[in-house]
Amino acid sequence: MYQNMNERELCIGAHVSISGSFARSVSLAQSYGCECMQIFTKSPRTWDAKSIDPTTASAFHEACKAASLPVFAHGSYLANPASSDPVQIEKSIASLSTELLRCEVLHIPYLVLHCGHGQDDTQRSASFRVVSCLTEAYTRVLAHPVHDHNHSVMVLLENSAGGKTSVGNMFEDIAEIIDNISDSGFSRHIGACFDTCHAYAAGYALRTEDDVHSTCDALFSIISPHYLRLIHLNDAQYACGSGRDRHLPPGKGHIGVLGFSALLHHPLIRDIPLICEVPISDQMSGQELIRSVKDIGKAMLES
Ligand SMILES: [Zn+2]
Ligand SMILES: [Zn+2]
Repeated sequence: MYQNMNERELCIGAHVSISGSFARSVSLAQSYGCECMQIFTKSPRTWDAKSIDPTTASAFHEACKAASLPVFAHGSYLANPASSDPVQIEKSIASLSTELLRCEVLHIPYLVLHCGHGQDDTQRSASFRVVSCLTEAYTRVLAHPVHDHNHSVMVLLENSAGGKTSVGNMFEDIAEIIDNISDSGFSRHIGACFDTCHAYAAGYALRTEDDVHSTCDALFSIISPHYLRLIHLNDAQYACGSGRDRHLPPGKGHIGVLGFSALLHHPLIRDIPLICEVPISDQMSGQELIRSVKDIGKAMLES
């Protein structure tokens, strides 16, 4: 159905490690054959972060420019913008502000954020807390002078994997938060990231061409393509609707080669950078990972 789309180039990359140095992550991504990349700007499992000195930041920025690699950052796993605990919320606002400033210094235009999870109250109040956490973080960052920067980092809200109290399982949840943040005057700071494993775990079918069409129709009718700036291209270790977030390389899990082939041929998906988030290991090197996704993208759909 979308064979003429094969001629358009996909932009495929991976999450890469910053261990060693920020600049080294760029050469690592290049050695894998990445056309875009994602990093953590600090350890995602600790609150603290060593500040980034200007030389490190400019070496990273220059390396990205020289490699022509669009770069994305993924936020801390500890932040929980949906929490009803005031201490957790304050820590999440502080953490998000810090990460937005780190992105600013590193010239990274996008920061992926999980919406978090509420406690025993309604999804609605939890999602309102996400809105106020984000708007407070933006307000603090905008008040913070960073030399020669224009505070243009956009937070990309990522859909969640379907946990009972998690916010952002359904596309409607993400769209509502985006609308409320835009209404608060921060429309240029908010967007979305679509994670295929999370969507599948949350109950969106993606195994066949028909599945992919109906899930993508829902996605793009609920969240405007204008807001969708990144796809996390991950296969799922568990069945559709499992609520379990375990990533596998594209084609190696329940979504499978057919599902990813249909995704990579979808005209709107093809326009968006695609990042694989699986551990690079002896079983699958970075080169093998990127090559295998490119092969799925090149293969014709069977129908
Ligand atoms: Zn994520
Ligand atoms: Zn993801």
